[in-house]
Amino acid sequence: MRPEVLNPLFASVTSLPGVGPRFGKLIEHLAGPCAVDLLWHLPNGIIDRSFTPKVREAPAGAIATLKVIVDAHLRPHSPRAPYRVRCRDQTGFLHLVYFHVTGDYLEKLLPVGSVRIVSGRVEHFNNEIQITHPDHIVDPEAAESLKPIEPVYGLTAGLPQRLVQKAVAAALARLPRLPEWLDRDLVRQRGWQAWADALAAAHAPESEHDLAPESPPRQRLAYDELLAGQLAIALVRAHTRRLAGRAIKAEGKLREKVMAALPFALTNSQRQALAEIGGDMASPLRMLRLLQGDVGSGKTVVALLAMLDAVEAGGQAALMAPTEILARQHFATLSKLGAPAGVTFALLTGREKGGARKSLLERLANGEIGIVVGTHALFQEDVAFKDLTLAVIDEQHRFGVEQRIALSGKGRGVDILVMTATPIPRTLLLTAYGDLDTSRLTEKPAGRKPVATRTLPATRLGEVIEAVRRALAQGAKIYWICPLVEESENVDLAAAEDRAVELKSLFGERVGLVHGRMKGTDKDRTMEAFASGDVDLLVATTVIEVGVDVADATVMVIEHAERFGLAQLHQLRGRIGRGDRPSACLLVYAVPLGETAKARLTLLRETEDGFRIAEEDLRLRGGGEVLGTRQSGLPELRLADLVAHAELLAVARDDARLVLSRDPELETPRGQALRLLLYLFQRELAVRYVRSG
Ligand code: ADP
Ligand code: MG
Repeated sequence: MRPEVLNPLFASVTSLPGVGPRFGKLIEHLAGPCAVDLLWHLPNGIIDRSFTPKVREAPAGAIATLKVIVDAHLRPHSPRAPYRVRCRDQTGFLHLVYFHVTGDYLEKLLPVGSVRIVSGRVEHFNNEIQITHPDHIVDPEAAESLKPIEPVYGLTAGLPQRLVQKAVAAALARLPRLPEWLDRDLVRQRGWQAWADALAAAHAPESEHDLAPESPPRQRLAYDELLAGQLAIALVRAHTRRLAGRAIKAEGKLREKVMAALPFALTNSQRQALAEIGGDMASPLRMLRLLQGDVGSGKTVVALLAMLDAVEAGGQAALMAPTEILARQHFATLSKLGAPAGVTFALLTGREKGGARKSLLERLANGEIGIVVGTHALFQEDVAFKDLTLAVIDEQHRFGVEQRIALSGKGRGVDILVMTATPIPRTLLLTAYGDLDTSRLTEKPAGRKPVATRTLPATRLGEVIEAVRRALAQGAKIYWICPLVEESENVDLAAAEDRAVELKSLFGERVGLVHGRMKGTDKDRTMEAFASGDVDLLVATTVIEVGVDVADATVMVIEHAERFGLAQLHQLRGRIGRGDRPSACLLVYAVPLGETAKARLTLLRETEDGFRIAEEDLRLRGGGEVLGTRQSGLPELRLADLVAHAELLAVARDDARLVLSRDPELETPRGQALRLLLYLFQRELAVRYVRSG
């Protein structure tokens, strides 16, 4: 249970003044549902209102704050003309200009004869000095409510700046006083303020300088966030370690049978990874290992061989994939490669229903099924194993820690192997998983050809279509990727559909379309048609992003490549170049291309090294932009910037370790305060691992 003192922070944003259901939705979309989410939404600019000229001296384009007397209301003669309020000071007239005025609110706001302080951007128009829709109008008695420097927030369409400013101020006013959870020496040495003061300061920048990630208030907040993360990871990890694992002993008989039948030899890194996994499984501690390998580096085979050891030792193994398509594909691959072992494989996804599902669950419970492949459906409560000993989680970044734990709860001391094709930079790895054991597959299987990558502006789409025509004539299989951007899924989907129609008109029925909104069976049918060759030009939204394996596809066109992150483009490109034929990737971008996007595309053209791309990606996106965590599923950082605050991350890690070594149950006064920190950053799962108290 979250401590009550934090309740005001976790109240809905609609509990803030001026935020009704409509604006509440927009704020939720922008920052999150709770007051605290809004507080993490730090300003990205300032407006300086300290310039207070006389009317005559106010230059066009400047933000100015002027003291004036209201002279007259000049109502519009036609509905399209603006409503104007004439004001003056000793030097001249200032017109306030309003469009679409209804009711009499302006008369109330600006009574004739009253003195008002107005602030906004000055315009010179037809020899008149005016301000259109002033930002502020205040009574001189309330002059102090007008701040000389105002924070500016990133917005979303339809959300007024003023409303966000007010809502933030109201949320700041309810900040509870919390005990200090940081080490006093660290706070002193860095010159940091207390948490609440740092937060208030971060929302009250006085210069551009205060907006930088290096400013002390922002550093303090970033450190809090990083420390919460490191502490949570350390707690979960200490907990999983504490649970005894089991020593899984297999001689490798099943494994040998399968290896003898494989049409290829394992690469050295595959062998090494297997040895590391085998070592973990044989030890009485629980395995928690990350298998990192670029797309196509052969993780699946490694997982299969490890799972066979689990079965040979008398247990069961489960492999969990993030999507239905992937689960089916893994099932097909694994049951084929694994056939010589004589183990029973099964598939469990949301689509297995009724009698078939029931009998499958029985066979899982009585141990008849040795290896089950599935999706989230594996977590469901009625899924029980006879003896689950190894859980393999593919593309882990789509699953949270909670799900990992839910799956390991299906057995005793379940060993966990997490596979990811996203080459995760070390800093990120540390934030996301702590000091997880890792194995890396660094070589591509022998015989792979590099992918020739080209970049082209969308204005040259005609050339792309001609290249596609030539490739099709030579029997190539082609992916054509259209991006899907969250905000306007319908629009993007329509774009993909239009593209498919257009390509069909050029190339006929060999064109297929697959997207995330399709029914599962339709999706499968299209993917199968592409695999079998009935379809050889597949228009797809990013549903194919992860893991889909059609080994003989050799061409990929990516439209609006500038909208994708580097890592995502790398993943997509990894779908081709899997066979022994040369492959090509065409990155089509909309002009004009921004600097970062240009750097990204250039890097992709230069290298296929996933680890290099990942490091670079982090560097390019580091400048304040939140990491593309929405897509990647990695824990989202709201305050910390892994590039600017990299040094703090290392400190936070050591800090977390030290704290837990001295106070493993977080019982000391500082430990108690740290519990609050964990709740503040919604790491309640981790708090469950310490004794309540
Ligand atoms: P990943 O899951 O890492 O993206 P996969 O396990 O799907 O990669 O492997 C990609 C392809 O390479 C599969 O068709 C697989 O059978 C094949 N493969 C795996 N290991 C090797 C190897 N050592 N030599 C040749 N081909 C391999
Ligand atoms: Mg894979």
